[in-house]
Amino acid sequence: MKSNLTSARGGRFRFALLIAGAALAVALSARADEALETPGVPPGNTLPPQAQGNGPPPWTGKAYRQGVVAVAHPLAAEAGARMLEAGGNAFDAAAAIQFALNVVEPQFSGIGGGGFMMIHLGKTGATFMLDARERAPIAATPTMFQFTGVSPANQFTVASTSGISVGVPGTLLALDTALKRWGTMSLAQVIAPAIDLAENGFRINRFLAANIAGDGGRTQQQPETSALFRPGGVPLAEGALLVQPDLAKTFKLIAAQGVDVFYRGEISQAIVDATKRIRTQAPLPPQPAEAQGRMTLADLDRYRVEIRQPITVNYRGWQFASSAPPSSGGLTIGQMLKILERYPLGDAAQGFGFGARNTLHVMIESMRLAFADRAVWMGDEDFVPVPKKGLLNQTYVDSRAAAISLASRMPTPAAGNPLPFDVAFGGQSFKVAQVEAQEEGVHTTHFSVVDKWGNVVSYTTTIEATWGTGIMVPGYGFLLNNELTDFNLVPTFVPGVNPGANDVASMKRPRSSMAPSILLKNGEPFAAFGSPGGATIINSVLNTALNLIDHGMTVQQAIDAPRLSVTSATGTVSCEGGQPFMQPAISVAVQDQLRALGHLGLGAAGTNACTQSIGSVQGVIIDLRTGKQYGGADQRREGTVIGLPRPRN
Ligand code: GLU
Repeated sequence: MKSNLTSARGGRFRFALLIAGAALAVALSARADEALETPGVPPGNTLPPQAQGNGPPPWTGKAYRQGVVAVAHPLAAEAGARMLEAGGNAFDAAAAIQFALNVVEPQFSGIGGGGFMMIHLGKTGATFMLDARERAPIAATPTMFQFTGVSPANQFTVASTSGISVGVPGTLLALDTALKRWGTMSLAQVIAPAIDLAENGFRINRFLAANIAGDGGRTQQQPETSALFRPGGVPLAEGALLVQPDLAKTFKLIAAQGVDVFYRGEISQAIVDATKRIRTQAPLPPQPAEAQGRMTLADLDRYRVEIRQPITVNYRGWQFASSAPPSSGGLTIGQMLKILERYPLGDAAQGFGFGARNTLHVMIESMRLAFADRAVWMGDEDFVPVPKKGLLNQTYVDSRAAAISLASRMPTPAAGNPLPFDVAFGGQSFKVAQVEAQEEGVHTTHFSVVDKWGNVVSYTTTIEATWGTGIMVPGYGFLLNNELTDFNLVPTFVPGVNPGANDVASMKRPRSSMAPSILLKNGEPFAAFGSPGGATIINSVLNTALNLIDHGMTVQQAIDAPRLSVTSATGTVSCEGGQPFMQPAISVAVQDQLRALGHLGLGAAGTNACTQSIGSVQGVIIDLRTGKQYGGADQRREGTVIGLPRPRN
């Protein structure tokens, strides 16, 4: 539901959270008794000390008081830190970071894309989400991805590299909205570092170099893009200087004329024209005329960002606030937390603890259950009713969790039926069809900011796949997203059987996995974090939350620790390892125990299957007792924390 900002005043908000917290305490003690009789839950289920509401564990690392930025690229972190040093707040810093990321991580996010900004206002205590997700054009239809004359093997590639998958971009309007409502600086001020980086260039890092080299043809869509990233046909290597004059020009236009030049002025026409381009360059498959974009000037003119209430669940005395629909992030993680709260995850003495068989097993099972529901019930709530209350209803979640046994892997779960648990649906019944997860992009970027006034921004931002469609707006130097491939490419709606929650519709937003999150205690923000990684985002955020709350890790340890991910009900397990910082490692002995339970995707007994890399989490922490601020950055990319005042060498 959309919220009215002015009604989310701090006092009432905090009061509501206190009440929720008190209700949680009662619910928790009731559940501790029930747990003795619940199959699969070991007797004596107690909470580890750090989860009992006695304040945070002793967070280590460098402490700051004037603000912290945690960003996946050092030059963008620097842009944000400079805004804070110049007297700006978290919103000014966030806007500067996003513009700079458009230059230095052009393959992951930018003004041609969209995202979700989770916000906590220091002044009012309100926590809410700015939804800048791309929207389908007015002319979009459920069957628009069914091309004739394209081989089935090429359908997805053609869809994801053509104008048909470009959603109306939201990022620029989000930045402008955030600056006007909560920031202190002008667009021209916050865009200045990005203009400098685009005009004078920067040395590309190994991640960008690798993405150019392995572009799947996307930087070769057009002559202009090839000339920029592959001059003379040679992919730019790490350390090469990348200068982007067209992007610098675009940013100057925006600085001078505001967002209208993008949504209504000369850039809008260029965007529409770019989505109609038919590519001529190899190596991407040929594009049928049907794959041309359907976006018009009216779509750009009518684009709006929305302010929405986050999905908030209580977990062991903390409030976990994360993305609401059209993202599936908050609801899916919320279900997992509610399932996992039954187990003493942090307690090695009870057979759990970080990386233990029982802990990983129940994490996998909770992911399988929640992803089964996600596939059926979640989509853009402005178009399809999403049974949010039912999905998070404790009785409903308990009924789902009853399938978990500590002795073996459960059979593949179907989606449940949350409607009887959701008053909005009047206890309606529904026959639920199983839906398989479809391929989703694995890139994007997340950054987190806290300022000295207690404002917090947790922002996941994307152009969907690495390089988006690969279509760069000619003459303007930014890439267009392929976000509409996050819709069901084949419609799933069957009356009475499947709500088609994520089928394409005119002006609808595709379902996302992005989960920018803020963890609070009694309404006070304690941590902000999020991750890229398509559907694995949900699990990276879950792993991080458990590391902080159950395992008592510092923010850096919580980010470094190896992650585990399952993104479908079937439950193929992915797990991390192989990089020295991913500690404590998931041992081969524990992997053998998971194999013995029947878990999939872990290869042969005695081997180490945990060799992957999942997500890129950037987070900040505010110590609730001292007010000191900390940052954690992810070495899986070039994560960087800058805290203020900067330490003197
Ligand atoms: N399109 C993806 C989503 O919204 C972006 C996230 C990603 O691929 O990393 O879920």
